[in-house]
Formats: sequence, C-alpha cells, structure tokens
Amino acid sequence: MDYAMMKNSRELFEAAKKRIPGGVNSPVRAFRGVGGEPFFVKSAKGCRLTTVEGRELIDFVGTWGPAILGHAAEPVIEAVREAAKGGLSFGTPNPFEVEMAETICRMVPSVEKVRMVNSGTEATMSCIRLARGFTGRNKIIKFEGCYHGHVDSLLVKAGSGALTHGHPDSAGVPEELAKLTVTLPFNDLPAVEAAFAANSGEIAAIILEPVPANAGLYLPLPGFLQGLRDLCTREGTVLIFDEVMTVFRLARGGAQEIFKITPDLTAMGKVIGGGLPVGAFGGRAEIMDRLSPDGPVYQAGTLSGNPLAMAAGLAQLRELERIDGWAHLEKTGATFEAATRAACANRPLTFQRIGSMFCLYFQEGPVRHLAEAMSSDRARFAKFFHGCLEDGVYFAPSQFEAGFLSTAHTPADLETVAAVVEKNLARVF
Ligand SMILES: *Cc1c(COP(=O)(O)O)cnc(C)c1O
Repeated sequence: MDYAMMKNSRELFEAAKKRIPGGVNSPVRAFRGVGGEPFFVKSAKGCRLTTVEGRELIDFVGTWGPAILGHAAEPVIEAVREAAKGGLSFGTPNPFEVEMAETICRMVPSVEKVRMVNSGTEATMSCIRLARGFTGRNKIIKFEGCYHGHVDSLLVKAGSGALTHGHPDSAGVPEELAKLTVTLPFNDLPAVEAAFAANSGEIAAIILEPVPANAGLYLPLPGFLQGLRDLCTREGTVLIFDEVMTVFRLARGGAQEIFKITPDLTAMGKVIGGGLPVGAFGGRAEIMDRLSPDGPVYQAGTLSGNPLAMAAGLAQLRELERIDGWAHLEKTGATFEAATRAACANRPLTFQRIGSMFCLYFQEGPVRHLAEAMSSDRARFAKFFHGCLEDGVYFAPSQFEAGFLSTAHTPADLETVAAVVEKNLARVF
C-alpha cells in the first residue's frame, strides 16, 4: 500500500490505528478533546494547510508554535536545502552550532552558555537534572497546568495533552519520583512561600512557563514572576523558565524580555528549529559549566546541533529579525483580537492574547490559573471547533491549547476568519 498516495484521512487513520498507538505520534493530534477524527495533511504553505483530500484550511496551530513565519517559509526551506547538500549529520562539531549558540546568547541575554538538544522535552529534562546537580537538592516546584514535555518528574498536574485527556498524572511515573515534585497553583505567591517554608533547603528548582500556554493561555499577575525570582535568589534555588513555546515568539528574548525577569536557566524549542526537531537549554555559565564533559552532570545527544536543524532555525531567526517579525506579529495579533472580541461581544467568552498567542475560553472569566481554565464549557468549544473546521479554519483541537498567529496571516485571511468565528459563535450559543 502506498500511503503517500492515499487521499482519504479516514482510511489513513484506520491504517494508522493498527500500527501506531491511538493512530498518532503525539496524543493531542488525536482530537480526543473535541471528538471526531483528525485530518491528514499533505502539505502546508504560508498560513494554510492542504489536507490529503485537497481541502485548504487556514491554520492557527502552526505545527504547535514553530511556524512563526508560516509554513515552508522560503528562507528556511532554502537554508535547509543548502545545508543538506553538505551532509545531514556529522557527529562532530559543525560551524552552524557555534553560530546558533552566539545567536541565542545575543537574543536571550540571561543565556551565557547554551546546549542544543532535539526537543523541548529534552531541554526541560536537562534543566531539571542540571539544577539538581548544581544545588545538590532533589525537590522541584512546578505549577498546575504548566506543561514541560513528557519528563517523568514534570508529568504531575501537567497541561496540554496530559490535561485534555483527563489523566493529569501519567501511569509509569514512580510515586517516589512524583513525590519530589511539589505542585502549586499558578499566580499564587503565598503558596510558593509556604512550600519553601515546608521544604526548607530542599528545593533545587522552580520550573514554570512564564506565560502558561498549555491550559489555554493566561498571564502572570503583576509581581508574580519577580516574586519567584526573589524567592529563588533568597533560597539558592534555580529559577527555570520553560520558554519552549514563548522564546523568539513573544519577543526576541521571550517572556523574560517582556516581563524583565532574569531566570537562571531557560528551556527553548519550537520556533528555534524552524520546523525541524530542535530544543536548547542555557543560562548562567556557572551552572551550565556543570555539564559534561567539564562537569559531573551528564547530558548528550547523537543528533544534537544537527546541521540541518541549526540551518533551519538560524534562517528563521534571521528572517524574523530582518522583517521585525515581533512588531509585525503584535499588529496582526491586535487586528485579530479586535475582530474576535467584536464577535464575542455579550457572550460568556474570555479572549486572552499576548503577541501572536491567544486563547478563546468558553466561559465568563477571569482565567488566571488552571482551576479557572477548567471551568470552560468544553462541549460548546468542541461544537465551535468543528464548525470552524468545516468552514476552513483550523484552531487547536482542544480548549486547553493556545492558538498561534504567523507573519503569513494576512489582514484578508483574518477577515475571512472573523466571519467564520462570528458565524460559528452564533451557531453554538
Ligand atoms: C511544547 C512544549 C514542551 C515540549 O516540547 P517538545 O518539543 O514537544 O518535547 C515543553 N514546554 C513547553 C512550554 C511547551 O510548550
């Protein structure tokens, strides 16, 4: 069977389910949060996906964040094509890695040294190990609804697919390990102070998404991030910003640039790979130097710093800087927000946005942490989602995922989408 020639998502999904658990290689793709079956994509260009059936969809998932210039952006494709001519992987140092490291350190000033990995999960996992190795402590603090990849210690009250599927804690994570993770509500500084008091001298790290975007999207309240920074400094705890989703997206230097907070370590991913599998983590040199081969904390990767992935990421970052992508995206975001808010008027909905990330909660709001996010009307969201999809607009297939704008979304696209949103809101209310 030549699956590449198949033009029917249903048939492909039937075949996939026989050989891939749930038919997908990442759970949230399975549409369980909204019901129904996923569509298969043949190609993508700009802000549009083309399904195997040949349907075009305006895409607000952007491969879950990386496609900030839209899909198959010419400078990125060209860079990959050029790099591929020179070979796909060497297993030795290559010049692209040095340029990537320089670029990251320039764009994210809290990062003095950086190491490349292959996914966001690897980045957060490595940050946790490094923080433990650096401090000689075992416990970590994370926040409910923050998703940091499928790392054992971090799959406790996690967001994203772990939330959508109603299994906040994964089977297979040893109780002994989960016990080392202290989980607190986001935006609740007194809870963090209390946790420090109860675990005095034991907290290696606090890890958080400074702008949580895996339970929809909500923002840090004024003073929360600074409060965490102060507590970590006082307690000798490593402050880890998981900016896998936000760095190079919300601003050149991510949420830490916007909120003016200097974390000790930063986990990066998504935009940095231009669509190829890449992650990175970095921060204070004093901490990073504990990594092998200089230090005792082991971390490695056969394909880390892969020349194609580096070339793709560098091309994407360069293009973002060239076109001042962040200013462009803020404008696009504001346009999108105005149109959506107009469509939402007088309905129990809460629209939240920062830069090119957004979420429409099906509830009155406010939404400041997981418990509030959870009170959204998911059945109504699912109906809205399917209506939009039928009308050619693809939002993330879960109430608890952020939407992403790209520089490829034009004012005309957004007008089309506003009409679709308006129509489908009227249908579900
Ligand atoms: C996507 C994401 C991850 C995990 O990255 P993968 O590349 O999927 O492993 C970690 N943290 C945050 C905040 C993310 O959004």
